[in-house]
Amino acid sequence: MSTSTLRITELLGDGIGPELEAAVATVAAALPIKLEFDKIDWSLAAREAQGESALNAGVDSLQRTRVALKYPTVTRGLSPNAILRRRCDFSVIYRPAISIPGISSNFKENVNLHIVRVATGGTYEDPGQLIGHHAAVSLRLVERDPCEHAAAFAFELARRSGWSVTSASKHTIQKVTDGLFESVVDEVHDRYPFVEHRRELFDALLAKIIISPQQYQVVLVLNEYGDFLSDMASGLVGSLGTGASGNFAFDDDNSVTLAMFDPAGGTAPDIAGKNVCNPSAILLALGMLLDHVGRPDLGSRLRDSIVETIGTGATTRDLQGSLSTTQFTSAVVDRMRSKLAP
Ligand code: ATP
Repeated sequence: MSTSTLRITELLGDGIGPELEAAVATVAAALPIKLEFDKIDWSLAAREAQGESALNAGVDSLQRTRVALKYPTVTRGLSPNAILRRRCDFSVIYRPAISIPGISSNFKENVNLHIVRVATGGTYEDPGQLIGHHAAVSLRLVERDPCEHAAAFAFELARRSGWSVTSASKHTIQKVTDGLFESVVDEVHDRYPFVEHRRELFDALLAKIIISPQQYQVVLVLNEYGDFLSDMASGLVGSLGTGASGNFAFDDDNSVTLAMFDPAGGTAPDIAGKNVCNPSAILLALGMLLDHVGRPDLGSRLRDSIVETIGTGATTRDLQGSLSTTQFTSAVVDRMRSKLAP
């Protein structure tokens, strides 16, 4: 097995961030590759003390290592996430939503959705404008390049995993904007004729996912649709707190240049420092990172270890268990070690 060193930018955060960081360090130490972390302090205190230079140090490091883990940060003034998106040109977000046995949900079906979302444009970059007293307008932007990046990412993911791609929009009504998106999806699909592609209207897709989620694997959508769908899918799998995402920037050939992985949850100040937070989301983010750097063998063993540990009921208290953060992390590591043993 390779013993090469993998350099990773670690963008440290607030609240439960240090406990999540410790969990990552414990898992990293048990992996059969050497991870070297370039730690950049993005806690609120550091950002307030150092201003732009803390943010610049993070972006510079990511541009060197090309891969980062980001911990939750408090937003006051400049939003680190917005700065990262803009400075690093992250144009695609990949957010898996997968049922984990042991996490109770009102929804009884198994969900295995891989949401690939154009992360720029839509209406989110225009604050809108009042027209007199009785109306307001906002501009909705759909650009070819991020659509192409997202489509290439989605079809590549589907090709590697043997999944189908469903693109969804309101192309029958938003004929020009959503029409452009769907036509770019078709162009990219032409390069992946062996991957099944289906097209749905977004509102119908929401109903169909609830009726038969097993029909859908990779779902490819524009920015707002992806925002709504990601939260709905988190709700279906029973937890907003166990999701992780990947944020990607691309070159002109649709190859990923920069990747950053982060947990869906926030800084959880109410439980910070108590050794009770659930580190699953940051560890799932680390698993996605391992997949991305060409070690899906390690990513899948880490993921399986997390899922199986939760399945045994050995969990933190947010999932009705009684383990501390460190105990849960040790349980995951024990399981992972046995999977890695020759
Ligand atoms: P922020 O402003 O950073 O979003 P928040 O407290 O408003 O912080 P979250 O951090 O998402 O939002 O927390 C929402 C609730 O979920 C809190 O009660 C928190 O304790 C809980 N929570 C969030 N993350 C975790 C976690 N990793 N483990 C256990 N509970 C968590």
